[in-house]
Amino acid sequence: MEYISTRGRAPVLTFEQAMLTGLARDGGLYVPAEVPQMSADEIAALEGLPYEEAAFRIVWPFVEGTFTEDELRDCIERAYQGFGHVARAPLVQLAPSHFLLELFHGPTLAFKDFAMQLIGQLFQTALARTGQRITIVGATSGDTGSAAIEAFKGLENVDVFILFPDGDRVSEVQRRQMTTPAEENVHALAMDGDFDACQARLKDMFNDHAFRDEVALAGVNSINWARVLAQVVYYFTSAVALGAPERAVRFCVPTGNFGDIFAGYIARGMGLPVERLVIATNQNDILHRTLVTGEHRPEGVEPSISPSMDIQISSNFERVLFDAYDREGNAVEALMEELGDGGFALSQGALDRLRENFGSGRASEAETRATIRRVFETTGQLICPHTAVAVKVAEEHMGRAPMVTLGTAHPAKFPVAVEAATGQRPALPPRMADLFDLPERVTAVPNDLASLQHLIRENRSK
Ligand SMILES: *Cc1c(COP(=O)(O)O)cnc(C)c1O
Repeated sequence: MEYISTRGRAPVLTFEQAMLTGLARDGGLYVPAEVPQMSADEIAALEGLPYEEAAFRIVWPFVEGTFTEDELRDCIERAYQGFGHVARAPLVQLAPSHFLLELFHGPTLAFKDFAMQLIGQLFQTALARTGQRITIVGATSGDTGSAAIEAFKGLENVDVFILFPDGDRVSEVQRRQMTTPAEENVHALAMDGDFDACQARLKDMFNDHAFRDEVALAGVNSINWARVLAQVVYYFTSAVALGAPERAVRFCVPTGNFGDIFAGYIARGMGLPVERLVIATNQNDILHRTLVTGEHRPEGVEPSISPSMDIQISSNFERVLFDAYDREGNAVEALMEELGDGGFALSQGALDRLRENFGSGRASEAETRATIRRVFETTGQLICPHTAVAVKVAEEHMGRAPMVTLGTAHPAKFPVAVEAATGQRPALPPRMADLFDLPERVTAVPNDLASLQHLIRENRSK
């Protein structure tokens, strides 16, 4: 399997290289040169399998050549053993034709554990062969950073630096998950700026090729193809549990950086019968506006009670644009240049293609709170604000096929918002009850590339 850049001017890579590289050297993102297909029989055969076995069958064709079958099986086994639910990604019913896919039973209580735990194991296996050291730098609006730290803490050959927005834009649970691990290879950096600023500095570091080579920079943001890949699995397992491939399903996905829903798009590309993929945004609704108007223009980020979706520069959107523009790297590069100058208008052809695949909607803050309350009143279930955004949007996109809304975080990760809406304070699972007692370790950093590079040079293990 070969991987190519969305901007068409970076070298073609193997899975291992694409995984360890993150952002392509031409500024683009890596995608598979061809998406492997699963036949209806192969999809039907996933029914009733343990999550790990299904994951192996779905991931294998993408990584063949980099790992042996045994290596991949071992990585998958270790990745999910710390999850608090034997089904890993259980489905619960919210209404007659509406299901919630609970993706928050991992160690940091958000769906990002599905990908991060697996790539921690894949990185370790690949690096152990050569003894190579790498420096992982990530930017987070909260959940990616905690999941990355949890997955990479204490691993040999890796230093991990996570940039997160200073102040109260990340919840206290999210912050503590990043600042309390005591392992020496973990560095939590509170940056003076919002998430888009953190992500912009991260991109600057990757685009400084001398620095990138000097510290062997690797990225684990959702631009990393290996993360998208790990997320493809639960689209299959949930759809099969609801009757695929005979019966189609719809998915509604709380969306920020477009990584999670892009995994659904890949699942569909592999042959899973997905009737609709619905993009759910909070008040930071650039993706919804893009589908409605054909204009992709970031506005300022307005902090919300679903902070992991407070994003205007949605990195993975580039991957779907690449397909919408017939995989013409030049066209994507031109759009991204326009984006740097304020935004772009999609061609009619590209917009039509996007609309064939995706629906979209938004939820205001008041609608999000009302949805948390209503779901609690009608089902007894507490849901996090990100999930609530998608439940509200899903209800506007019901069709013939059953709807699966992705539950992206545990309600206890956002207790203030959940309690304000329902009067109930969601409890942390017992396995993390000591989070509020552990000492925190964090470095405040300015929104400045040179200072960040200096800090990383000085603090990584040599
Ligand atoms: C990261 C995150 C999202 C957004 O996912 P993307 O892949 O960035 O679109 C939604 N909800 C929660 C809880 C998250 O942590």
